[in-house]
This record gives sequence, C-alpha cells and structure tokens, in this order.
Amino acid sequence: MLHVMSSIFFLYKSDKATIPNYGIFARMAKRFTLSSYKKESLSKRKKLGPFIRYINRRKIPNLSKLIKSIDEQVWKEIDCTKCAICCKHMTPTYTETDIRRISIHLGMTTAAFKKQYLQKDDEEKDWINLYIPCPFLDKNNLCTIYDVRPVDCKGFPHLRHSQWVLQRNVFEANLEYCPATLRMVELLHEKVIKKASKPACESSV
Ligand code: SF4
Ligand code: SF4
Repeated sequence: MLHVMSSIFFLYKSDKATIPNYGIFARMAKRFTLSSYKKESLSKRKKLGPFIRYINRRKIPNLSKLIKSIDEQVWKEIDCTKCAICCKHMTPTYTETDIRRISIHLGMTTAAFKKQYLQKDDEEKDWINLYIPCPFLDKNNLCTIYDVRPVDCKGFPHLRHSQWVLQRNVFEANLEYCPATLRMVELLHEKVIKKASKPACESSV
C-alpha cells in the first residue's frame, strides 16, 4: 500500500503544453491543453470522484474481474502517444534501481545522471525529475528510454492494481490529469450503477 501510494506521479503546476486529443474526446477532433482537458472533463470528474468514494465503502462483487475487462477496453480506446499529459505535467519517482538501470543505459555514472536530470522532492525523500516536460519524452510523445523507464512510469496510471479500491486518493487525484483513469472510472460507474439499478426480475435471468 505504502509503496503504491509513494510511487504515484507527483503533480506539477505547469499547464502550458498543447495536448493532442483522443479517447473520450476523439469525436470532437480537436487539440487540448491540459487546462482545456480539465475544463471539458469537469462535470464528469464531479460525478466520478464521489463514485470512487462510493465503491470504496461497498463490496462490489467480482470487482477485480470487472476492472480487468474494463482495463482492456480502456486501452483499446486510448492511445497514450496522443496524450502524454503525465510525461508533460507530472514526474515519476525514481528508485535507486531505476537510477542505476537508466544511468547504465545512458552510459553515465549515477552521480552524473542525478545531477543532470533529477532533484529531491520537497520532503527530500524521493528522486523526481528536475524538469518538465520529462527530458526523455520526444516530440512524438514517445519515451526515449522506454525499455528502462522508471517502474513508476511502467505502472502508471495503476488501473489494474489489485487493491484498486484502496487507492482511492490516487485515482481521485489522477482523474484530473489522466484521461485513461477518467475513462476507467466512467466505465466502472456505468457497469456498477447499471447493474445496481436493474429490476430484481431482470437480474435473476
Ligand atoms: S497514462 Fe494517462 S495521462 Fe499518461 S499518457 Fe496515458 S492517458 Fe495520458
Ligand atoms: S521516463 Fe518516459 S514514460 Fe517516464 S515520464 Fe519520462 S518520458 Fe514519460
């Protein structure tokens, strides 16, 4: 639990990058800045935030199975290379193992890598990016260190985490930044609420 919470991407305040549109907004065929994404998704986020708290309080039957199938659907709809909000506006935390692996890949010492790319967070606890957007993001929204990227990046946005419900703070925070998380919670909301509102005679079929 602690590990997952501490590995959430940190949020930065920069709001300037222009983000290509995709997924739930694809039909609108226009480009979004993070601020416009936030604006467009505001009403959904207002509804979905409390829903996350709702499922955290209740035992939803077969939740893990449901999440697995929704996760597959989310990634059929969403292409991260057309988004990259997380790489442009947030930073992963780097473990010492991440730092060693990436330094070797770049042919640098770990000390030189830290000096050039990283800083400690406000609490002086975790290593985070010195700059945003992430220096390893290229102009096509691809990660130039993809094979050796931080574990935090590999797992983000943690949609399949087995203790999904317990991570409600993470998911609530990520709704604001990550359209894949928003889509995941939106689909979960549709399925859970729809099932709950089925008449008894129908649900017994
Ligand atoms: S993980 Fe979320 S924020 Fe990051 S690129 Fe994919 S959809 Fe965008
Ligand atoms: S290391 Fe790669 S995946 Fe991680 S934030 Fe940077 S560009 Fe994105």
